[in-house]
Amino acid sequence: MKIETRVVHAGGTPDPSTGAIAPPIHLSTTFEHGPATEDLHGYLYVRDKNPTQDRLEEAMAALEDGEDALVFASGMGATIAALQALEAGSHVIFPEDVYVHARVAHREFLPKWGIEASAVDARDLAAVRRALRPNTKLIWMETPSNPRMEITDIAAVSAIAHEAGALALVDNTFASPVLQRPFEHGADLVLHSTTKYCGGHSDTQGGCLVLKTRGALYDKLFHLRMILGAVCSPFNSWLVLRGLRSLACRMQRHSENGLAVARALAEMEQVETVFYPGLPTHRGHGIAARQMSAFGGMLSILVKGGWDEAVGFASRVKLFQNATSLGGVESLIEHRASAEGPGSTSPPNLLRLSVGLEHADDLIADLRQAAER
Ligand SMILES: *Cc1c(COP(=O)(O)O)cnc(C)c1O
Repeated sequence: MKIETRVVHAGGTPDPSTGAIAPPIHLSTTFEHGPATEDLHGYLYVRDKNPTQDRLEEAMAALEDGEDALVFASGMGATIAALQALEAGSHVIFPEDVYVHARVAHREFLPKWGIEASAVDARDLAAVRRALRPNTKLIWMETPSNPRMEITDIAAVSAIAHEAGALALVDNTFASPVLQRPFEHGADLVLHSTTKYCGGHSDTQGGCLVLKTRGALYDKLFHLRMILGAVCSPFNSWLVLRGLRSLACRMQRHSENGLAVARALAEMEQVETVFYPGLPTHRGHGIAARQMSAFGGMLSILVKGGWDEAVGFASRVKLFQNATSLGGVESLIEHRASAEGPGSTSPPNLLRLSVGLEHADDLIADLRQAAER
């Protein structure tokens, strides 16, 4: 079945007890068991699992074509679980351009857990190969990357990982399962911040790990989630599930608007560079065109000048709103260097745009007036 159909129905069997078409939210934290803790209904306690989370997991696994999925309290909850599943003494390869808190996690926390990490330019396959160590257990990809919109060749990097006996993980947050399905290109694990496009309305937080095969790693991650406690709440699971229903429609519009806005920005004199993988001038365009069905609603620009000129641009928008996060229906703009704070690797003149579902003409008009001083 096509993805447009799957997003509408995944995890959507009518409620067996009432026939409700819209799934119920089960808020109960605890479930009846037998006198010697015999499992009677398949559920015990909300931190293990819950029927509403189950529906979302079924949906996410179906959309990515994975065998199973686990939902977490946030994208970072999923990120940390994936890293904690590694044994002490392992080595992980990260891309240089990666979500800021994933970078903080590997710099600040991995050493404490006895895990080595190195950061490479993941666009350079020779650099990825050179970074391999005998104990490399995981290659982390994020494509398109946050915030520089770099494209990693999922098939090529997954092949390098597999030759080395390591797992290949893709943070698929920017593309969503509608635009990119990393398992088709050889990845083993897919991560989402469902706070972003999957939820889609800037009103829920969650994360997800989808596994291509449901092996021992699933049990390990399930146990980790239960003990670390970063489990997705029933209400947040429900909101993400609700968001998924319109994901295909939204991604189509986000992609149309993203391309229109990127083209318009590329024409503006005040804009030095536009990073949008849908533009033929983008370094990763060819790879993106192979592994994505469209290019999404995220882009970033370098404003001519420096920090002040970029902040000045962001201060003049009227329709775009200055806020962090992304993937909601509304358009947002953000000066990443100030948002990421000390240690940021974002250029001082970079603005990241999350292009929403408004009419592209209105968005472009807003950016044009903001570009004028
Ligand atoms: C936001 C984001 C995350 C972290 O997700 P949270 O839900 O905020 O914890 C991870 N990866 C990418 C690419 C993101 O944009």
